[in-house]
Amino acid sequence: MLSLSTSATNLHPLPPLHHHHHCFVSPPPSLRSSPRHLRHSLRCSAPVNGSRNLNSGAGVFAGEGFDSSSENDEKKTNYKIMKIAIVGFGNFGQFLAKEIVKQGHTVLAYSRSDYSRAAGEIGVQFFSDADDLCEEHPEVILLCTSILSTEKVLRGLPLSRLRRSTLFVDVLSVKEFPRSLFLQLLPQDFDILCTHPMFGPDSGKAGWGGLPFVFDKVRVGSDPARVTRVEAFLDVFRAAGCRMVEMSCAEHDRHAAGSQFITHMMGRVLEKLGLENTPINTKGYESLLNLVDNTARDSFELFYGLFLYNKNAMEQLERMDWAFEMVKKQLSGHLHGLVRKQLMLDTNSSGNDDVYVGERNAKPMMLPSPTPHTQIVP
Ligand code: NAP
Repeated sequence: MLSLSTSATNLHPLPPLHHHHHCFVSPPPSLRSSPRHLRHSLRCSAPVNGSRNLNSGAGVFAGEGFDSSSENDEKKTNYKIMKIAIVGFGNFGQFLAKEIVKQGHTVLAYSRSDYSRAAGEIGVQFFSDADDLCEEHPEVILLCTSILSTEKVLRGLPLSRLRRSTLFVDVLSVKEFPRSLFLQLLPQDFDILCTHPMFGPDSGKAGWGGLPFVFDKVRVGSDPARVTRVEAFLDVFRAAGCRMVEMSCAEHDRHAAGSQFITHMMGRVLEKLGLENTPINTKGYESLLNLVDNTARDSFELFYGLFLYNKNAMEQLERMDWAFEMVKKQLSGHLHGLVRKQLMLDTNSSGNDDVYVGERNAKPMMLPSPTPHTQIVP
């Protein structure tokens, strides 16, 4: 029985806010016209082939910043195309990028590894330098990093190069952690939207129609343009047919520990058993094999993040332990009852003619001989 009791939050204390000193202004002209910046100013715009205007009245944020001192107020609400920067361009980041590009938005990406080729293939401009990315002044920064690396990546972003008001969004599979991280590390002027698309490259490969998309508007400025920008971002998922579920981060984590974490846990446990295809698979067994298959496609880091950064996961792990023991006890309890009954009958029947002949001759049912615990190599 596992007896860890430290919550993820305790394991991962967040430092006090110390980013107040940042000056969130646009970079000076000298910096803007640096050779590096010029190099990127020749960037491709988002592909428009097959793009749709999917904004249900909300409109999409245009290329201008959200600086409230901007003279061009009209542009603030004249949304046509959003410029969205994906930070963390791995498996899930690329998966999201394809749909966002398809909807006609401009997508930029930055990641630790070089994904310039993969990005180019789907119409995304890749940056290997976070300064360059931020100097492009995306309206939205979409964090698609692993749960474990998110804090490091966020701390490494040159926030002072972004517009004073930028919308930060995350898609982490845990929600309370990025919420508190954003609230602590991002300047007050930035808007915060915490989300969790409850699907991935496998479950969403045939489209996102009907798939749940959880979101929590953690902090959105009262300026109508900022409210509209958040809605415009959510429109990406609405337009793809997602089932939109507005829910607090805390509530999400409670539900996810009892569903998603258990699913991943069971998949990993079954994987250790080395289940094999048989010529007589039942439907139930097929779904177990599918579960193992789906789980194995996600990184271990993701699974570990679900455990470490959701304070409810440990309780679920202990409940699973308890449930396993209960079912085992239930089985052996029945077996003991049966054996005891037969033993008693056998004893009572010596010289007792009331007992049926068959029962008198019956051998006591033997408990299976104890086998050594199966060794599972991690
Ligand atoms: P992941 O293993 O959770 O994350 C991979 C991403 O994290 C890559 O972009 C990787 O960058 C980055 N990363 C990992 N370690 C890093 C480090 N030390 N420094 C900088 N970057 C680092 O796999 P994923 O499936 O792509 O998931 C990404 C996020 O989406 C996670 O937060 C996950 O919870 C969430 N999510 C995933 C799914 C899904 O079905 N996969 C569904 C919903 C939400 P490089 O590739 O450049 O190394």
